[in-house]
Amino acid sequence: MSFSLQEKEDTIVALATPQGVGAIAVIRLSGKDAVRITKKVFKGKDLEEQPSHTIHFGTIRDGDRIIDEVLVSLFIAPRSFTKENVVEISTHGSSYIVSQVIKLLIRQGARPAKPGEFTQRAFLNGQFDLAQAEAVADLIHSDSEASHQAALSQMRGGFSDEIKSLREQLIHFASMIELELDFTEEDVEFASRNDLKVLVEKLLRVVEQLIGSFDLGNVIKNGVPTVIAGKPNAGKSTLLNALLNEEKAIVSDIAGTTRDFIEDEINIGGVIFRFIDTAGLRETTDTIEAIGVSRTQEKMKTASLILYLFDLSDTDMVEINRDVNKLENLGVPFVKVANKTDKSNKLFISELNNKHPDTIFISAGLKENLDALRNKILELVNLDKFRTGNTIVTNIRHYDSLVKTRESLLDVLQGLDDQVTNDFLAMDIRRSLHYLGEITGEITTDDLLANIFSKFCIGK
Ligand code: GDP
Repeated sequence: MSFSLQEKEDTIVALATPQGVGAIAVIRLSGKDAVRITKKVFKGKDLEEQPSHTIHFGTIRDGDRIIDEVLVSLFIAPRSFTKENVVEISTHGSSYIVSQVIKLLIRQGARPAKPGEFTQRAFLNGQFDLAQAEAVADLIHSDSEASHQAALSQMRGGFSDEIKSLREQLIHFASMIELELDFTEEDVEFASRNDLKVLVEKLLRVVEQLIGSFDLGNVIKNGVPTVIAGKPNAGKSTLLNALLNEEKAIVSDIAGTTRDFIEDEINIGGVIFRFIDTAGLRETTDTIEAIGVSRTQEKMKTASLILYLFDLSDTDMVEINRDVNKLENLGVPFVKVANKTDKSNKLFISELNNKHPDTIFISAGLKENLDALRNKILELVNLDKFRTGNTIVTNIRHYDSLVKTRESLLDVLQGLDDQVTNDFLAMDIRRSLHYLGEITGEITTDDLLANIFSKFCIGK
C-alpha cells in the first residue's frame, strides 16, 4: 500500500466506531472538502459558515428522504487530528444508516479511507512522529492497565523526546568532524575527541537502558509468559480453566462490557498473563511431564513466571523438595501451588506449611483460594516495575533500530581508540544517526511507512 500525491489530496471517509449495532456510530471525514461535502447532504445550519470546534444538530438527507437525525462536529484545519478539515457525524448506531450515509458522502465526492489513513495523514502533516503514530495503534489495541500506560506515555512523546535530544547532540559532533574534513591541510580539531567519547559513552548508556527495557515492554504488550508445571493429573488444566472462567464471570458481571477472550490470556490486577503451551494442557494431561525432563525445562526457561502445581494427595515431601530445588536452580520466579486441599490430610498440609511457608493451598476443582494465588502472582511480577516513569520500549522495530544504533556507536568508540581518520569516524556517526532517526521517522522509506500504517484498521 502506498499513497500517490493525488490520493493525499482526496477527502476520505470511514466509520470511526466499531462495526455493528451500538447506541451511536461516528462517521469521520478528513480533507479539504470535508465540510463542503457534508454540507451537501446535511439539512440544518450552513456548515461552511460555522466556526471550528462546534457541534450542530440536523438531518442527513438523500434528496427528500431523511436518513437520520445527526450531530455534526466540525474541526477546521489545522486544529484537528489530521490537521486537515475534519467532520465527525454522529448517527444512530445502525449499520444500515451508517452504510447509507457513507454511500451518500462518497457520491458527493469523498473516497473510502484505507486502513490507517487518518493516522498516516496526521503523521505526514506533522501532528506527531512515527513512534507516536505506532503508539496510537498500541493504545487502541491495549487491553490491560500496564499496556495502556506504556502506549499512552509513548504517544505523548516521552520516548521520542529522549531519542531526539540524543540525536541532536550527535548531529552537532558529526557536523564538526565533517567541517574538519574541509580543512585537511591544516591540522585543526573543531570537535574534541575527548568530548565526543564522553557523549558516545553517555549515548550508549541510554541506548542500553532502552534496549534493556524491551523485555519489560514486551511483557507489557504481549503478556507475562507463564507456565503451569506439574505432574500429570496435578490439576493444571483444571486450574487454568478455573482462572479463565472466573475472569469471564467477573467481566460479564459488569453491564455492557465485552472483552474478546483470547484463549489462555488472563488479566490479573491489570497485567496480562499469557499461558504457554496450554493447548497441549487441554488435549492431554501428559504433555508437561514431571519437572526435570529437559524439553520441559527449556520451555520453563522462556517463561517469566512458573506456577509449580502439585497434588497434595499424591506427592510426598521428598518429591516437593527435589522439584523446588530444581526450580530454584532454574532462576525463574515461581509459586508453589498445592492443589486438591479438599482431599488431602491436615497433617501433611501443616508439615508442608512449616517446610515451605510460602506455599499457596488451593482447590482448583472447587475454585477455592484462587484470590490468594492471584495476589501471590502479582507480588512476584513486581508491579512497580510497570509503574515507573521510565521510558519503556514496546516496539520490535524500535528495538531493532536501537540494537543497530548500539553497534554503530560501539564502532565510533572503537574508531576513536584506534584513531581512525575523520572520514571513517564521520561515517560511523552518520550510521548511528540514521538508526536513531528511523525510530522517530526522521528517516523513513515508503515501504516502512506502508508497513506501519497497514497495521491499523480502516477508520483509524
Ligand atoms: P492435569 O493433568 O495436570 O492437567 O490435571 P487435570 O486438570 O486434568 O486434573 C486431573 C484430575 O484431578 C481431574 O480428574 C480433575 O477433576 C481433578 N482435580 C483437579 N483439581 C482438583 C481439586 O481441587 N480437587 C479434586 N478433588 N480433584 C481435582
